[in-house]
Amino acid sequence: STGSLPAACGPRLNRGKVEVRYVEFSYAHKEGKIQKLLETKGHDHVQDSYDYDLIVIGGGSGGLAASKEAAKYGKKVLVLDYVTPTPQGTRWGLGGTCVNVGCIPKKLMHQAALLGQALQDSRKFGWQFEEKVKHSWETMTEAVQNYIGSLNWGYRVSLREKKVTYENAFGEFVGPHTIKATNNKGKEKFYTAEKFLIATGERPRYLGVPGDKEYCISSDDLFSLPYCPGKTLVVGASYVALECAGFLAGLGLDVTVMVRSILLRGFDQEMANKIGEHMEEHGVKFIREFVPTKVERIEEGTPGKLKVIAQSTDGREIIEGEYNTVLLAVGRDACTRTIGLDKVGVKINERSGKIPVSDEEQTNVPYIYAIGDVLEGKLELTPVAIQAGRLLARRLYAGATLKCDYVNVPTTVFTPLEYGACGFSEETALEKFGEENIEVYHSYFWPLEWTVPSRDNNKCYAKIICNIQDNERVIGFHVLGPNAGEVTQGFSAAIKCGLTKAQLDNTIGIHPVCAEVYHKSNLI
Ligand code: FAD
Ligand code: NAP
Repeated sequence: STGSLPAACGPRLNRGKVEVRYVEFSYAHKEGKIQKLLETKGHDHVQDSYDYDLIVIGGGSGGLAASKEAAKYGKKVLVLDYVTPTPQGTRWGLGGTCVNVGCIPKKLMHQAALLGQALQDSRKFGWQFEEKVKHSWETMTEAVQNYIGSLNWGYRVSLREKKVTYENAFGEFVGPHTIKATNNKGKEKFYTAEKFLIATGERPRYLGVPGDKEYCISSDDLFSLPYCPGKTLVVGASYVALECAGFLAGLGLDVTVMVRSILLRGFDQEMANKIGEHMEEHGVKFIREFVPTKVERIEEGTPGKLKVIAQSTDGREIIEGEYNTVLLAVGRDACTRTIGLDKVGVKINERSGKIPVSDEEQTNVPYIYAIGDVLEGKLELTPVAIQAGRLLARRLYAGATLKCDYVNVPTTVFTPLEYGACGFSEETALEKFGEENIEVYHSYFWPLEWTVPSRDNNKCYAKIICNIQDNERVIGFHVLGPNAGEVTQGFSAAIKCGLTKAQLDNTIGIHPVCAEVYHKSNLI
């Protein structure tokens, strides 16, 4: 290809093949562009010595796992991690989304909400306490943040122990094999490496309507909010939105969720709707098929008061509401547009910003790899990023060949009624295999622990989807109930091993636990 050559080279294309190549190279050499030319043609240029064997951009779940694994094989590794503050000014330490503003604080706050429910249940089990039970947002947040602080520290120590160099600096490609690291004082340093790993993750998206960045918060702010958010509007209807709405309501707050279309897009919709029904029964309000068009501040304070103007998705209706806090959970954007990928020729999907990679997590530029949430078409989950990072380092530096297997990855949505899933949703299974080839077995169940407090009878639900053409192999597993993550984890291993319906029926269950519903032919 001569696409990267200036127009002046054009006429020479009419000459013989060999001569054209010579002219291209001599021109490029004069311009000091030969290295770049080689890169863009897909050839890897190996210099005699680089500062590092591997530079990892992003010290989150994936980046830290990969860097420590690479160092284990004696490689010289640098990790750059930098948190750009949110529009509200929130920032955090080393470890990425999961530890600071994702899985960890989310699960701990979910637990705080479950304890509130357990306190209510406990009266029926004989516990007596006279005084009104109150929850302190400040105490919870401080405890959660202290724990996160200890994790941040632990990560630093473990990088040092494993001889990985860490810099709290923003990484940006400036040329082939070369990166600029800018720290929070604006000081710039330049480093070279033989290989690079992009593990920069994602950050919350904003709506692009007046008042969103000024007055709304995102999950990046919520977990360290120094005051109780009060009456809250959650915008969005996926994982982040429903999990946050769930625990805020569980802590006793007045919570409304504004849904643009459906709940939990991509998940089994029967399960998603049951989650919504359960949340509604427990006091969460839903405004369906509306999107905010403007947010105004009507009262200062912590929290102050905001007015939200919203429009129905058919454009016919406008509504207004007042809230203390508006939490935007409308998706996340990959951090790929400001890291100089154009300087080194790494292709992204221009629409989504995501990076397409081979099944070995290699980008179109051979010496640059990518893992985790920045990847196109892959699951955005911490264990996935970690597994991909570790296996990549082993393939690069330890002669291993095992690739990351992105199929049948289990996941859990930590809504008040937890939802665990592995494999196909019913919709996708029907679409892929056809109705005549699918058998669905299901059952409602009532956890023993909930019988005495007499709550949520028959709200928990178990469902498996089997492929009739393949010996009734289980291709979809779904559970709504307490500890859904713990339940799903074990079954996902069995599904990986090719679990069939007959094997499930033949397995003797543990009594009395929720998961026994899957055995003894309890599913019909
Ligand atoms: P990240 O962990 O996001 O790490 C990227 C790091 O790179 C960040 O520290 C970022 O600041 C830094 N960075 C970005 N650009 C640069 C740059 N140019 N230079 C230097 N550093 C840079 N997953 C689960 O498995 N279970 C859950 O329960 C769960 N809950 C979640 C709850 C919430 C609210 C959210 C938002 C996510 C949740 N996730 C959960 C998803 C999980 O957090 C991500 O999948 C995971 O963190 C992705 O890891 P990563 O390494 O790709 O990116
Ligand atoms: P998401 O899955 O991309 O969902 C975005 C939600 O926002 C959808 O409900 C979408 O509605 C809505 N939305 C988008 N634009 C909107 C707009 N302009 N107005 C109103 N609503 C709008 O994003 P996410 O919830 O942030 O999750 C991101 C990823 O993090 C997930 O894919 C997941 O892998 C990971 N995560 C994992 C866990 C876990 O493991 N428990 C928890 C949280 C997050 P539509 O459906 O109408 O598009």
